[in-house]
Amino acid sequence: MRVALEEHFVMDEPEHIDRWRSLIPSVPSSITDKILKPLIDVGEARLEAMAAAGIDKAVLSDTAIVQNVLDPTPALRLARESNDYLATVVQRQPKHYAGFAAVPLVDPVAGADEFERAVTQLGFKGALINGQTNGHYLDEDRFSVFWERVEALGKPVYLHASDPVVPPVTYEGCPQLTGAVWSWTAETAAHALRLIFNGTLTKYPKIKLILGHMGETLPFLLWRIDRRTKAFATGPASTPSEIIKKNIVITTSGVFADPPLLCALAELGEDRILYSVDHPFESMQEAAEWFDKAPIHAETREKISWRNATQLMGL
Ligand code: MN
Repeated sequence: MRVALEEHFVMDEPEHIDRWRSLIPSVPSSITDKILKPLIDVGEARLEAMAAAGIDKAVLSDTAIVQNVLDPTPALRLARESNDYLATVVQRQPKHYAGFAAVPLVDPVAGADEFERAVTQLGFKGALINGQTNGHYLDEDRFSVFWERVEALGKPVYLHASDPVVPPVTYEGCPQLTGAVWSWTAETAAHALRLIFNGTLTKYPKIKLILGHMGETLPFLLWRIDRRTKAFATGPASTPSEIIKKNIVITTSGVFADPPLLCALAELGEDRILYSVDHPFESMQEAAEWFDKAPIHAETREKISWRNATQLMGL
């Protein structure tokens, strides 16, 4: 058994495809052109690749997510279109697919309502949020309506990697730093830490947050974050690592290497790591070849493969 939960699609409609391209201006079109076909495919080719890589179920998410649509009316329309489409995709293959909702948080009330609709009417297993929305981060008061709904529905939120609105000066003159190599990780780790330091995960203790890419460096930095928070007395009541170990789980998406997996296991434990690929930006086959040989106990492998995901999302 294997479940993967950072697996992307985009609707095969020009408006949705253009929206996806606009999210990743740093990626050359020669690469986006190649990725587009597996990204829009939710049929035979994807199912065959999943079977070959031993993935029984993929929780699909729209990668052209609406966080960059700043007018609330089209943001809601696009999110609904995407969620309705994903619901039909899941209905056709209920054994192999499940869904994460696209949530138009530019209007937090509309976002909360659409999330509730996606969970209660479409049967989705959570939401995937593509980082900041128009420069607003999820710890801000305006999103309390969303978090109240998340707690009430009891579904996890996947905080997916993305860019800040304004790139730091540090990145000027070094385009390699923008995107998956660095800026998405730094931005997403900082976003998660805002939810800790600004009290969101304390105010809403039942939130389950998912971070991809082996925890966006947080497992590696946990000791130092605790240490310096304590030294400068700037932290929340609990130490940051206590909140991370209570409210946050991570996935293996896009990180197929033993040392970061062993670090995450040592810091977070085997109950807080979930298998993922990041299809189609990463290879299902390579992920499987790595994970099958990773130096971990059989019981740990089973938890990461599917037990933790099944428990988290009630699959
Ligand atoms: Mn991804």
